[in-house]
Amino acid sequence: MSSQNAPVCPRCGKLDAVQKVSSLFAQGVTTVEYSPPGAIVGTSTASSMTLLAERLKPPKQPEGGKLTAGAFIFWSVVGGLIGALLFREEAGVTIGFVVGILFAGLLAARADEKRKRAYPAWQKAIQKWNSLYYCGRDDGIFIPNEERFVPVEQIQAFLYE
Ligand SMILES: [Zn+2]
Repeated sequence: MSSQNAPVCPRCGKLDAVQKVSSLFAQGVTTVEYSPPGAIVGTSTASSMTLLAERLKPPKQPEGGKLTAGAFIFWSVVGGLIGALLFREEAGVTIGFVVGILFAGLLAARADEKRKRAYPAWQKAIQKWNSLYYCGRDDGIFIPNEERFVPVEQIQAFLYE
């Protein structure tokens, strides 16, 4: 009886349909290895998620702040074009190019600031997620010893409260 340690659901007052959200999620996400048809060598991996695991997924880690090669090239070319249009000289292209590169760096720095600011809230949310339990009878989540019962649809909002 693995459910013996499960806490009682505040909605139905029972524990037989209660499971830890993090372990339900881990069970629902499976990685399979396969050889794509027609592939000459190698295998690929594909992840599949059950619908429940998808609905119970943890909060997404904040991203951003990486200066990608694509952004770098894009903004330097845009800068170069603007420089060429403004000055109609080779020096204008160079200046525009440099300004474009600086602009790309500035964008990346701002995105990184944003990610850093979002990080503490995400850490709190993931900690909360780790303490969640799911009741299959009522299709909702709760934290043990707390009265509140939250429908699965509101899990992300609940995590960031
Ligand atoms: Zn219940």
